[in-house]
Amino acid sequence: MTVVPEPPHAMEPQVGDGLPSAQRAIDSETGFDVLPGFRRFRQRDDVFNRARWDPSVRSAKAEAFFASYDESPPRVRHVDGFDQRDFALRNASWHAAETLARVRRAEGRYEGFTHSFTMPPKAPRRAELSDVADATRQVKRAARLLGADLVGICVLDERWVYERTYCRADDTEPGVELPPGATHVVVVATEMDERLTATAPVATSSAATGLGYSRTATAVTSLARFLRELGYEAQACMNDTALSVPLAIQAGLGEYGRLGVLIAQEFGPRVRLGKVFTDLPLIPDRPRRFGVREFCEVCRECVSACPPKCLPDGEPSVGGSGPSHHARVRKWTIDAEACFRFWTDLGTDCAACVRACPWNRTLRSPAGRLWRLLAGSPLRRVALWLHRHRRRGRRRAGRWWWGEEPEWPVPPG
Ligand code: SF4
Ligand code: SF4
Repeated sequence: MTVVPEPPHAMEPQVGDGLPSAQRAIDSETGFDVLPGFRRFRQRDDVFNRARWDPSVRSAKAEAFFASYDESPPRVRHVDGFDQRDFALRNASWHAAETLARVRRAEGRYEGFTHSFTMPPKAPRRAELSDVADATRQVKRAARLLGADLVGICVLDERWVYERTYCRADDTEPGVELPPGATHVVVVATEMDERLTATAPVATSSAATGLGYSRTATAVTSLARFLRELGYEAQACMNDTALSVPLAIQAGLGEYGRLGVLIAQEFGPRVRLGKVFTDLPLIPDRPRRFGVREFCEVCRECVSACPPKCLPDGEPSVGGSGPSHHARVRKWTIDAEACFRFWTDLGTDCAACVRACPWNRTLRSPAGRLWRLLAGSPLRRVALWLHRHRRRGRRRAGRWWWGEEPEWPVPPG
């Protein structure tokens, strides 16, 4: 393993960029505004990790929240979306991800969240690959077979690798490990279930998140295994090791939205992300701009839908409510503390903003494709009006998902 250099990390310009400070040429394509004084993110400052060490986030409710996913019974209520079967579905959906995460629990590892996945040794001999273009095509083909709904490739940009990782078991900050000679990142996205998400924010909708994590864990570990069987380095990751969203944007999977996550052209924000770091030479994708930034400037659906009102209403800005954000990147930043507090009050994770976002639709229907054309054009206000008029982001009851309310189809598109 290669350990990424330790701090301080005032980022140096890359040779040939001709740009000051931490900016890179690719930022003009992604829309990232990386400011002087930029430092890589420390994973301990992620709000979920702060719930372990930071008294301003840690609470009995937070402890109960985490434990309810695999150790102790959830806070079942006789309320739609929160009864025993809803939590049973939620925890069942997380089962594969949680089981993989805890393979080396005795060593304090929480794989896919704070540590990369344990993989078998790579093949001693490298397979003959005809050329880079062919290898790229084959890797993407394999990734889709192994569970990715979207796959893109970017050059490893160390700005988005954590400055230090975090071990919840012993409250330490080890250096980040990457495979020796890693040059590229294969970024995958898996679609979260559309109908489950339509019930957010309840335990029923949390099953869409859990299933997304379980499917992503399978996809990245299987893809890493494939690359290792070919004799190349491959490290499978989800939330560990590096920030997924900027890498996904660089890999052409989507744009950054006001709600603080990736918006993919195919599914909107209704995706989970994973990544595989490798030394296999590959052809990177280019970032794609399809009008999200401009659309977010006229839309506030996620802001209105957020129960604790922790999404930004104004222009992208620098700074945020606490340390759980990148201090020197100008962007829309959510109030992570308020968001997490709402989750712990609720007893389950929330995705009301994802449900409400007009980009939460698919490209499968002609109506969906037409809406995207409108949304990415100067007629974006018409697209927003159509979304509101059809009440697409409206919440469904948990009972609706269980088939106990008259079928109320999600409008096409
Ligand atoms: S997940 Fe829920 S609480 Fe958090 S920002 Fe989205 S709507 Fe708000
Ligand atoms: S709901 Fe509207 S403002 Fe929020 S992320 Fe989606 S498009 Fe942007």
